[in-house]
Amino acid sequence: MSTEFDVVVIGAGPAGYHAAIRAAQLGLKTACIDAALGKDGKPALGGTCLRVGCIPSKALLDSSRQYWNMQHLFGEHGITADNAKINVETMVGRKDKIVKQFTGGIAALFKANKITAYYGFGQLQPGKSVLVKQHDGSEVVLTGKHIVIAAGSDSIELPFARFDGKRIVDNVGALDFTQVPKRLGVIGAGVIGLELGSVWKRLGSEVTILEALPEFLGAADAEAARVALKEFKKQGLDIKLGAKVSKAEIVKDEVHLTYNDGTADHSLVVDNLLVAVGRKAASTNLLAEGTGVKINARGQIEVDDHCHTGVDGIWAVGDCVRGPMLAHKGFEEGIAVAERIAGLPGHVNLDTVPWVIYTEPEIAWVGKTEQQLKAEDIPYKTGSFPFAAVGRAVAMGEPAGFVKVIAHAETDRVLGMHLVGVGVSELVHEGVLTMEFHGSAEDLARICHAHPTLSEAIHDAAMAVDKRAIHKAN
Ligand code: FAD
Ligand code: NAD
Repeated sequence: MSTEFDVVVIGAGPAGYHAAIRAAQLGLKTACIDAALGKDGKPALGGTCLRVGCIPSKALLDSSRQYWNMQHLFGEHGITADNAKINVETMVGRKDKIVKQFTGGIAALFKANKITAYYGFGQLQPGKSVLVKQHDGSEVVLTGKHIVIAAGSDSIELPFARFDGKRIVDNVGALDFTQVPKRLGVIGAGVIGLELGSVWKRLGSEVTILEALPEFLGAADAEAARVALKEFKKQGLDIKLGAKVSKAEIVKDEVHLTYNDGTADHSLVVDNLLVAVGRKAASTNLLAEGTGVKINARGQIEVDDHCHTGVDGIWAVGDCVRGPMLAHKGFEEGIAVAERIAGLPGHVNLDTVPWVIYTEPEIAWVGKTEQQLKAEDIPYKTGSFPFAAVGRAVAMGEPAGFVKVIAHAETDRVLGMHLVGVGVSELVHEGVLTMEFHGSAEDLARICHAHPTLSEAIHDAAMAVDKRAIHKAN
C-alpha cells in the first residue's frame, strides 16, 4: 500500500478528524493516525472529546440530571416515585455504549471518505514525513504534501496528587467510578470540576471543590458567575475559593488533603479525589529533532492566525495550539486548514467561539465580558432579563438564571452575550450569529421570537439594552 499522501493528519480527535474528512471531501488523498485505545483495548477514534470528554461527560450529566429531577423537581408537578435508586453500572454502561457508537462512527466516516487510518503513535520527522509506531509493534513512514498536527491535550497532574486511576483521578477515572463516592474532593472549580462534580453530587456524593483563585469562574462574566455560584451552593456543592492544596495522600481507602484558605491550614478527608486543574498540549515526543516546528513554554505548537507553523506544509490545530481548548474550536480549525491546503479561503474567528458549561443551570457565553470591556476601555451598555419572568421557563419549573446582552454604547453592535439557565447551551448561538453578522442589540430586539420559548429572554434582554423591555420594569 502506498504511504504517500496529499495530507497526513496526526490525531483523530475533533480537530484532526474534521481536517481529514474535509481534506478528503476536497479530493485530497488523506491519512489519519491515532494512538488512542478505547476501554476495550481496541483503537478508538474521536479523541478526548468522544472517548473521555464531551460526549461521555454529557451522558453522565444527563443520567444524573434525571435522577436529581426525580428526587427534587418531580414533586411540584405532582409526580412521586418512592425509592428511586441509581444503578451506577447501568449508567456507566449506557455512557460506554454511546462512546462506542460515536468512536465507531468516526471509523465509518473515514471509510466512507476513503481516509486511510493508521493506529499507533506518530512522530513528525524533518521534511514532510511521519514515523508511525503501530500498536502491533511495526513501524511505517508516511509522507504528505501537507501534515496537520492535531495531537490534542492531556490532563495536568499536580506533583503532590499523582493519579492512581482509582482514588486520585482525572476526568478518565471520574467518568468510570464503579460506585457513588460518599465524599468526593475536587481540585479546581473550572469546567471539568463543575460538570463532573455536579454528576456525582446529583447522585448523592458530598462534593467539596477546592479552587486556588479567590474569584469563581474568572473567564466568565462576573455577574453570570455570581448567579451560577449561588445556584450551585443551593444544590449543596461546597465550593471553597482561595483554597490552595499542598498535600493529597492516599491513606488506605481515603484521600487526606491539606489546604490553606489564606488564614489557616485545613484538612479534608474524601473517598475519591478528582484533579481538574486544566489541560496541557500533548506535544511530548511529537516532534523528532530538526523539524523546525516550534513549541512554546506552555508546550503548545506555535502557529499563525491560519494555524500554519511557519514550516512549509506543516499545520497544527485544536487543543495543541493557542486558543480555547474546545471541541468546536478544533472542528473549525480542522476544516479551515483543509480548505487552505486545497487553495480555498478557510478562516476561524476566535472572537465568536461560544463557551458552554453543562451544569444545572447551564452557563454559556460568547464575546466580551463586562470586566474585559472595562479593562479595554470600550464604552458599552447592557440589557438583562431573568428566566423567572419567562413564561416557558417558569412552566418548566426552571426559573433560575438570566440573559445579558452587551452592546457598544455608541454603535449598538453586540459585543457579548452571557446566559445562565436552562437550555442556554442552545440559546447562546443567537449571540454567535448576531456577532458573526455584526448585528446590533436593536436587530435582536426587532426579530420576532416565538412565544412561549426560552429565547424570549434574549428578545427582552436585547430590548432592555435600550430600556424598553416589555416584561420587566426598565
Ligand atoms: P483531542 O480530542 O485530545 O484528540 C487528539 C487525538 O490525537 C487523541 O485521540 C490522541 O490519542 C491522538 N494523538 C495525540 N498525539 C498523537 C500522536 N503523536 N500520534 C498519534 N495520535 C496522537 N469541549 C467542548 O467543546 N465541549 C464539551 O462539552 C467538552 N467537554 C469536555 C469534557 C471533558 C471531561 C474533557 C476532558 C474535555 C472536554 N472538552 C469539551 C474539551 C474537548 O474534549 C477538547 O477541546 C477536544 O477534544 C480537543 O480536540 P483535539 O482534536 O484538539 O484533541
Ligand atoms: P479549567 O481551566 O477550566 O479549570 C481549572 C481550574 O483549576 C481553574 O479555575 C484554576 O484556577 C484551578 N486551579 C489550577 N491549579 C489549581 C490548584 N493547584 N489548586 C486549586 N485549583 C487550581 O480546566 P479543567 O476544568 O481541567 O478543564 C480543562 C479544559 O477542558 C477546559 O478549560 C476546557 O477548555 C475543556 N473543557 C470544556 C468543557 C466544556 O466546553 N463544557 C468541559 C470540560 C472541559
